[in-house]
Amino acid sequence: MEKFCVSIPKIELHAHLNGSLSRATLKDLGCLEEDVQIYNKSDIDLQTCFQLFSVAHKATSDVNSVKYVTKQVIKEFADDNVLYLELRTTPREEQNMTEEEYIEAVVDGITSHKSPIVVKLLLSLDRRRSIEEQRKTVKSIIKFKKLYPDIVKGIDLSGNPSFGEFYEDLFIEARYNGLFTAIHCAEIKNDIEAERILNFNPDRIGHGTFLHPESGGSQRLWQMNKMLQIPTEICLTSNVICRTTKSYKEHHIQAWIKDELPFSLCTDDKGVFNTSLSKEFFLAYQHLNLNREQLWKISRNSIDYSFASNREKQELRIKLKEWRQENMQ
Ligand SMILES: [Zn+2]
Repeated sequence: MEKFCVSIPKIELHAHLNGSLSRATLKDLGCLEEDVQIYNKSDIDLQTCFQLFSVAHKATSDVNSVKYVTKQVIKEFADDNVLYLELRTTPREEQNMTEEEYIEAVVDGITSHKSPIVVKLLLSLDRRRSIEEQRKTVKSIIKFKKLYPDIVKGIDLSGNPSFGEFYEDLFIEARYNGLFTAIHCAEIKNDIEAERILNFNPDRIGHGTFLHPESGGSQRLWQMNKMLQIPTEICLTSNVICRTTKSYKEHHIQAWIKDELPFSLCTDDKGVFNTSLSKEFFLAYQHLNLNREQLWKISRNSIDYSFASNREKQELRIKLKEWRQENMQ
């Protein structure tokens, strides 16, 4: 079954660039052994995870390293039989790089990679930043969406959920300018914000951990989620390691499966959590009793939830169907 999970063509919709850097890539960039060692800690929580990102940030503080890691991450997903990848990252300024140069470097990595995989970019707003700072980033995102309409597809809200807030106006502006919206929602218990985000009706939400009443949400939120049917990006390992969910078996995805709500399986930060999309599929098989047919459907349905063009979606569907004919009859 492990082999099946590796070989099935997969669709990744929730992957943060910096959290996806593998240990090998960090070492390539001259990261110190002790820094990379933090990545091997078995016992980390949500707050530690955010500390881990600073290791990756330190290693990618100029345009060349940003371009390099983008290509490396793309290659690693392609090697894991991911056919389509939506990478997301927060534009950031460093001593030798402006926010826009950072975006340009990531786009450069995407346009110059040589792997057999379709890659799109979502740009994230960091919830810790002020509304003025976020507004400035939205301006840049819209600018790059116009420059690279086939690559820059969407906008995300992410960062430490214990801080900051969801500024709806910024997302209305982004949507008005043709960007898809994928928003981290209910990562921690915050019913008021979760309701505001659901009301905005994003194209996708990330995690949705504290929506269902049995996982700490409320009946009201769950009814909204059921009514809206917003595809949810589910990140099993990330939630278990960060302890926002008790175990794989008790993961909130069970509520999505039971109520037949749309979801996709994603890695979140494959480097930080030492996972891969194949591993996430295998965990879904092991702990949630999903069979081959169901796993294949997760891949196929994820194409519908993606921000690919209609033509790209059609091509992906054909590839998945062909794989099925060769491997599942
Ligand atoms: Zn995330």
